[in-house]
Amino acid sequence: MAIADAALKSLKERKITPSPENYAVWLAYHSSIQAELRAELDMMIAAKRVINDHICDKLYIKYFEDLAIGSRMMKAGGKMAAEMEDVRKGLLKAGIKTKAYGEQLEVAKRELAKTDSPLITLDLVDGLVGATGEMAAQSRHLETKLEESSIEIEALRVQLEQVRIEAATDSLTGLANRKEFDSRLVEMCTASDQGAGPLAIIMADIDFFKRINDTFGHQTGDQVIRFVATVMDRAKPKGGIVARLGGEEFAMIAPMTDRKVAMAIAEKIRQTVEGKRLVRRASNEDLGKITISLGVSQRRQAEKPTEMVERADAALYNSKRNGRNRVSPEESVSIKAA
Ligand code: GH3
Ligand code: MG
Ligand code: MG
Repeated sequence: MAIADAALKSLKERKITPSPENYAVWLAYHSSIQAELRAELDMMIAAKRVINDHICDKLYIKYFEDLAIGSRMMKAGGKMAAEMEDVRKGLLKAGIKTKAYGEQLEVAKRELAKTDSPLITLDLVDGLVGATGEMAAQSRHLETKLEESSIEIEALRVQLEQVRIEAATDSLTGLANRKEFDSRLVEMCTASDQGAGPLAIIMADIDFFKRINDTFGHQTGDQVIRFVATVMDRAKPKGGIVARLGGEEFAMIAPMTDRKVAMAIAEKIRQTVEGKRLVRRASNEDLGKITISLGVSQRRQAEKPTEMVERADAALYNSKRNGRNRVSPEESVSIKAA
């Protein structure tokens, strides 16, 4: 209360307007909480200078307002420094090389942390705004470029995928071609050796196909090939693959399938082909019964992929030799030995 009284007394004596700001100046003077302000006022009093509203205004701005701004600047500076650090980290994370920009941010961060001068801070902020604007323009450019690139890459990916599919596909039937068959067989043999379960191959060849071609023409022959392709493809087990190896020869690779199951699948295919009466598209003419011969083999541990194909092929040959329209298993080791 004594300090408050003294402050009011000072205002009255000097005919200073009792505004909150002027009161604050004299409150500070009498309470000695602002040593510098008190020293400055004491000097003026000693020099017998007139201390009026104008002087009080200046003192208030110098010791209170500037300080307040200074501390706000420090706070804002700290926030901005944190923001810049985030941006710098983000750019670093994105792998964008911004050495110069990063250095400018570093300097600004240090300066912002220690300055309480609005002028210096303004300079720093101006510099940062410029550099950040440039960076943003660069980033936008980069973003646009990346977007364009990603669209181009996606288009390229689709094209490549298309080419890859075409390169692996038999154009007449849509089945895998021989090349695809060979590479998938190697993959599946490896998987089987690594414990993915038994692996079987079913080979098939259309019986007396030459006759179909000769009697009804090549186009009808193609139709028959497509029909057999569809029957075989529908019979494949999960993860299986059916290929047209050429002419009117087909092969199925059946994963998780042993010889017995493969024999059953082959028999079902044989029956389905035999059971369907085909008519010539152009003339509705009956093509008569179409039959196929099949051969089955099961992978033996660590044998070459071609070996199991050869055994299935030999089994198919047996089917042909024994009257066609039948399924034969590979010759077992015991029969071979006998
Ligand atoms: P087999 O029962 O012994 O197999 O008798 P086949 O008449 O089927 O004999 P072979 O397998 O030797 O005959 C295959 C014929 O298939 C020969 C060829 O003219 C014909 N051919 C091969 N590729 C195609 C094709 O893409 N389309 C058509 N329509 N015919 C084909
Ligand atoms: Mg044939
Ligand atoms: Mg043939």
